[in-house]
Amino acid sequence: MHHGYDELAVCGLTLRGAAQGGIRTCLMVPELDLMFDCGPVDRGTLRFDRILVSHGHQDHLGYLPYLVSQRQLMRKAPPDVHLPEEVVGPLRRIFDAWAEIEDFDLAVGLHGHAPEDTVDLGKGRVARAIRSDHRVPSLCWLVERHTRKLRSEFAGMPGPRLRELKERGVEITRPHVEPLLAVTGDTRIDLFVRDERLQQVKVLVHEVTAWDDRRSVEEMRAWGHTHVDEFVQVADRFRGEALVLVHRSLRHSKADAEAIVQERFPASVRDRVHVFGT
Ligand SMILES: [Zn+2]
Repeated sequence: MHHGYDELAVCGLTLRGAAQGGIRTCLMVPELDLMFDCGPVDRGTLRFDRILVSHGHQDHLGYLPYLVSQRQLMRKAPPDVHLPEEVVGPLRRIFDAWAEIEDFDLAVGLHGHAPEDTVDLGKGRVARAIRSDHRVPSLCWLVERHTRKLRSEFAGMPGPRLRELKERGVEITRPHVEPLLAVTGDTRIDLFVRDERLQQVKVLVHEVTAWDDRRSVEEMRAWGHTHVDEFVQVADRFRGEALVLVHRSLRHSKADAEAIVQERFPASVRDRVHVFGT
């Protein structure tokens, strides 16, 4: 099950796993203690206590009952799985069916979410669900770091003076949200086009399933996916540091996709684009 497995270090984050179009998607980010989606990837997946799921297609979610059962055998706590609210009921029935077949209860925390719901990840980090654009109910997950910054009117003021103001109860800081990482799951390009948060996030992991004209833009759109022709048109809107393209169909090699990035993506963004997945 190691086919397609890859690892990429960007902006202090490690992206690890596989994201093969239609086959399996599971991305681990150890620095954030997070796993995105739960397609069949067995290497390294058992240690993640929190899983953020984009949608219910089996190549993104089908591995979950097995993973939960393996964790249980190892006496690990049930994982917390955050997923579109529409998926929770049917998935619960799948877990109940496995429990009946195996005569063994499978404990799992299933948390359904609507768009713009947030999940507190601790350490000042929050995961936000954003409605993506696929054939079934789907969510893009955006990880934000919430901090406080000095208000502009106090900029340059000496430390002792600031401390004095603070002691008098003056609010010298304001909330600041830094978008760190977004993982789209399967989606049409419309999500990136309409949502500025995805254009601004530091690291954007976005799907591009089709990389040439063996599949047309129309066909990809009908299946709820992104064609490279569409991304080439709008890629210059990306203002973050790393644009990581995943979910490539098996029709295209990594080397082919990398060559297409160099040939076709705008020069302004080309050097920030990474193709993920062997
Ligand atoms: Zn899908």
